[in-house]
Parts: sequence; C-alpha cells; structure tokens
Amino acid sequence: MTTPDPAQAGEGDLLQVSLSALEHYAYCPRQCGLILLEDAFTDDAATIRGTHLHQRVDTPGNKGRGTVRTLHALPVWHDGYGLTGICDTVELHNDGRILPIEHKSGRYIAGGPADTQAAAQAICLEAMFHQPVPQAAIFSATDRRRHLITVDDALRTRVHDTTHAVRTLLEQSHLPAPTADTRCRRCSMATDCMPKMLAGTRRYHQALTTLYTPTDQQDNHA
Ligand code: SF4
Repeated sequence: MTTPDPAQAGEGDLLQVSLSALEHYAYCPRQCGLILLEDAFTDDAATIRGTHLHQRVDTPGNKGRGTVRTLHALPVWHDGYGLTGICDTVELHNDGRILPIEHKSGRYIAGGPADTQAAAQAICLEAMFHQPVPQAAIFSATDRRRHLITVDDALRTRVHDTTHAVRTLLEQSHLPAPTADTRCRRCSMATDCMPKMLAGTRRYHQALTTLYTPTDQQDNHA
C-alpha cells in the first residue's frame, strides 16, 4: 500500500476536517455524522471524565524540563490533507524528536480510532516542522500509561482515507445508517441515535429513500 501524496490532495483549498472528527468517524461514521451534521454531541460519564482530563492539557503552555520541552494545546494543521485541530501535548526532545501525545480517559485499544487521530497529529507536525515524525502516543488515564504507535504507511493511508470520508460526509450532509453493534454499548450518542430502533428496519430504509420525494398525494394537496 502506498502512502498518499498530500501535495496532490488540494493545497489548502479543501473543506477543513477536524482531527477529532477522524476519531469519531473511525469509531462510527454515524456518530461523526450526528456530531457534525446535527450538532448532537451528548455527554456520558466517559465523555465527562475525558473533559476533566483535557482541562489539564487544554491550557496553552510551554514547559521545559531536562532534555524535553513540552507544549500544551498546540494548534496544528495540514493544508494538503485539509486537516486542522489541537494537539493535547507535543514533546520537543533535544535530539530533534517530536512526539505528539493524545490524552484519553478510557482504556487504550491497539489499532483503534485514537491511533488514527494521533497519527494525523504526527502528519500535521511533520508538515509544520518540516521533519519526519515517525511516532505518536496515546496516554490512557485508565492504565496511566503512554502507548506508543508507529506512524507507518498503513496508518497514513488510514488517516488519508478517513479524512476523505469525513469530508464527503460534510459535503453530502447524508447521515450514515446506525451500526447497531457492540460499539453502541459504549457510545454516548445512543439516545439521539436510536440504533436498535432504526437499524435494519424496513420502515427506516423506506423513510430514508422517500424523505424528500413528493408523493402523488402531497402533489395533489399542493
Ligand atoms: S449508538 Fe451505535 S450506531 Fe449510533 S452513533 Fe453510537 S455507535 Fe454509532
């Protein structure tokens, strides 16, 4: 699999996609659609825990200790990918290494949605600092550990494809169908989404296809 060439992706005139949207989409496209298209973000215990955790790293700052300078709440972007967002923490090491660290309240799932978000941060930092950023990290408050990931070609392709998918979602304003699987148990959007009621039902799919199609009866009333 080849890594996409961001220089061919659009040069700064793309509809901007937020880094957090990548994680939402990677978890569930419908969750991303509910947040971006319907402004329907709902908190649960996990998201409130996450908000409290982020308050510690959301204040812009710049601290130096030993051989590492730590930046908090650093705005980042990538014109080629059309990405924009804020890094919780970025470490600048004396040996030249740059490491973005995304903070999560829940447990870390290897290969999960947080990897996509953290890799996107690394890709943005590469463009901004003009140097390779081959690793990123996810700090999980559940096990209080930092989980390092390698930003390889497969992950770069995932960032590229997910960015494209989110942009298509924004352009088409079409809310994806519910997944109605194990993800819904841990999803704060379940009340707004109603996955079990809607998924796989004939009435739901019928409603989607006929929502804005005028019927003969409606025409007669016009
Ligand atoms: S409840 Fe399920 S289908 Fe709905 S947004 Fe959450 S994960 Fe997606």
